Amino acid sequence: MKTTRRGFIKTGGIIAGATAFGIQTNGFAKNFIKSKGSKMKFTFKPYTLELKHVFTVAVNSRTTTPVMLTEIEYEGVKGFGEASMPPYLGESHETATRFLSKVNLEQFNDPFELEKILEYVDSIEEKNTAAKASVDIALHDLIGKLLNIPWYKIWGYEKSATPFTSFTIGIDTPEVVKQKVKEAEEYKILKVKLGRENDKEMVQTIRSVTDKPLTADVNQGWKEKQFALEMIEWLKDYNVKFIEQPMPKEMIDDIAWLTENSPLPIIGDEAVQRIPDVLKAHGVYSGINIKLMKCTGMREANKMLNLAKSLGMKVMLGCMTETSCAISAAAQLSPMVDWADLDGNLLIKNDPFEGVKVIDGKVTLNDFPGIGLKN
Ligand code: MG
Repeated sequence: MKTTRRGFIKTGGIIAGATAFGIQTNGFAKNFIKSKGSKMKFTFKPYTLELKHVFTVAVNSRTTTPVMLTEIEYEGVKGFGEASMPPYLGESHETATRFLSKVNLEQFNDPFELEKILEYVDSIEEKNTAAKASVDIALHDLIGKLLNIPWYKIWGYEKSATPFTSFTIGIDTPEVVKQKVKEAEEYKILKVKLGRENDKEMVQTIRSVTDKPLTADVNQGWKEKQFALEMIEWLKDYNVKFIEQPMPKEMIDDIAWLTENSPLPIIGDEAVQRIPDVLKAHGVYSGINIKLMKCTGMREANKMLNLAKSLGMKVMLGCMTETSCAISAAAQLSPMVDWADLDGNLLIKNDPFEGVKVIDGKVTLNDFPGIGLKN
């Protein structure tokens, strides 16, 4: 009898409290009240992205990218996530399936315990950063939807402060390069992939058809610092704004020398994956390239962003070839970055999502809750 009465008072207290603050009609409050004992249901499925063009960087070429699409369902609300796994980074449908099969979210009753849940996901196994990001993104989407607000607002970032995104022109023959530049008419900044024998030809080909500002990603392709410096000085005259990962990430002293002598900012990409790498990059690079798939998702990306800013470093926000799911998630951070390279969804033919868009070259946030997907 006593137990029943106590139970009744407890429940009554929660409802009365919600009513007293006038939030009884708010969807979140309703969910919160009825959510006692509810479980999160996590599911995933493999998917293969088809690229519009053969994608060539300094180390390889390909026409598809394997991804994993994830969902976390809670109280009838679904959050969506994605792992994008370009083969050279070591993850695949097989590794992600193995990792994600171990993720047990049913042990948690409260999706708002994001730090605790994602610490657990990170602790299951080392590496698997894209697979971890697919859980992180779905959880962020779910939380934003339960609160009915987008993440840029939860973080307090300014909607209109988003940057232009660069659009990547892969290494190719002059004819194809010219064609790609024409297709990229909407974009205000082009990113050129360098690090091969024909670097100067690539840049001159692009310059024969456009005078838009360029950024250069060398993907560790230059092996000698004096050569790298001469290339950077040459590129500066072609209105290149910064250089991404000019030399192999292991050549730390040479890169530090290059950064000190370079007329353009030097950004670490392959060298910077997670939080400890930001500290290592300080004093070696001018800035870092943050990607959700490298750093396990939005939670760590936001921490890296703020750490790098506090160290006075530049921040670039990049991506893999991804659907609009992971791109929309990354875009939530974009008001805070110096440069964005969020064109991954624009390079694919079979995007199953609609989300944050690029309008007149600018990353343009919407007001859909969560990560900004239209569903
Ligand atoms: Mg890069």
